[in-house]
Amino acid sequence: MPKAQETILEIDLNALTQNYKHLKSKLDKNTKFLAVVKAFAYGTDAAEIAKHLQNLNVDYFAVAFTNEGVALRDAGITKPILVLHPQPVYFKTIIARCLEPSIYSHKILKEFIEVANEEKQSNYPIHIKFNTGLNRLGFNIEEIGTVVSNLQNTTSVKPASIFSHLAASEDFNEKEFSLKQIETFNKIASAFSAKLGYQPMMHMCNTSGILNFPEAHFNMVRSGIGLYGYGNSEKENKNLKPIATLKSIISQIHTIEKGETIGYNRAFKAEKTTKTATIPIGHADGIGRQYGNGIGYVSINGKKAPIVGNVCMDMIMVDITDIICEEGDEVIVFDTNQTAETLANTTKSISYELLTAISQRVKRVFHR
Ligand SMILES: *Cc1c(COP(=O)(O)O)cnc(C)c1O
Repeated sequence: MPKAQETILEIDLNALTQNYKHLKSKLDKNTKFLAVVKAFAYGTDAAEIAKHLQNLNVDYFAVAFTNEGVALRDAGITKPILVLHPQPVYFKTIIARCLEPSIYSHKILKEFIEVANEEKQSNYPIHIKFNTGLNRLGFNIEEIGTVVSNLQNTTSVKPASIFSHLAASEDFNEKEFSLKQIETFNKIASAFSAKLGYQPMMHMCNTSGILNFPEAHFNMVRSGIGLYGYGNSEKENKNLKPIATLKSIISQIHTIEKGETIGYNRAFKAEKTTKTATIPIGHADGIGRQYGNGIGYVSINGKKAPIVGNVCMDMIMVDITDIICEEGDEVIVFDTNQTAETLANTTKSISYELLTAISQRVKRVFHR
C-alpha cells in the first residue's frame, strides 16, 4: 500500500467480505442477513459498502434515517431498505423511494397508514417494532390488540416483519435479561400472529446477538459492527478484521525546550526537551478533545506517540521524543493491530463512537 500523503481512511473491502462470510457461517442457511449501514456504514462509506454487500447478495439493508435510505437508492441499491427511525415528515419520501419504515408507536402507525392511503398503496411493507426491555422505541406487549385492529382496518400497509432489539447482547453478566427479552419477543410473536392470522418475519439480533444467542436468530439477523470487523469481545474480535484504517502524515517536527508550552491554552508544559510532531487530524475529523493531554495516541514507525496538549480542530501534536521519524512519515491512528476499539477505550468510549465520528472531509480510499 502506498504511504499516506494526507489523512485518509482506508477501507478494505476484502475484509468486509470475510467478515460477512464469517457472520453468515453462524446462521442457519434459511436465516436472512440484514446489513446495518446507518451513519455512513459506521463512518466508512454507505454507498460503497452497500454496493459491495449487494453484490454478495445480502438480503436487506437498514439505515437509521430516511435521508440515509434515499442516498442508498440514489447509489443504485435495489435490495429492501428498512428505515429504523423514520419521522412522519418523510413518509411520502419513504414511499416514493420504496423504503420500508419501522413502525414503533400508535402515532407513527396512524400517520403512515394515512400517507399510504393518500398515495394509493396496497400492502405496503412495514416493520412493527416491539419494546422488550431496551425502552427506547417500540410497542409494548399490551398494545398488540390495538396494533392488530388498526392493521386489520386497512389494506394499504402490511407487516413484512416484527422485530425487537436486545439491550445488552454483548454482556455475559446480563445474559438472564437477554433471555427474558427473547422470551418476551416469542410471546409477542405468537400473540401477534394469532390475532393477525399469519406470521410475519421475526428478527431481534444485532452482531453480539448473532454470536451469543443462536436461539434468537429467528428469520433474519441485523449486523452492523461485525461487518466492520468488531465483535465486542476479545474472542470474537479474533475471527473478524477491522475494515477501516485511519492514517495520516507528519506535517512538521518541533523541538520544545524545557518550560515552553504546546498548543491552545498552553495545556502542555515541557519539563524537559521534547520533540513533537504535528499531524493534520483534529476534532473536526473525529478525534475529540477527550483524546488530548496524554490520553489518546497514534503510532509512528511502530511506536506509540501520545497526544500532547489539547486536540485542535484540524491538528494534533504528538510526543515523538523517543521515536526516530521525520517530516512526511506515515502516522497510524488506528488499524488492524492498534484498533479503533483500543483507541476508543482510552477515553472509556467504544469502537462505534470513534468510527462513526470520522468526518466526511477525511478522504476514503478503497482496497478491493
Ligand atoms: C444499530 C442497530 C443494529 C446493529 O447493531 P450492531 O451492534 O452494530 O450489530 C441492529 N439493530 C438496530 C435496531 C440498530 O439500531
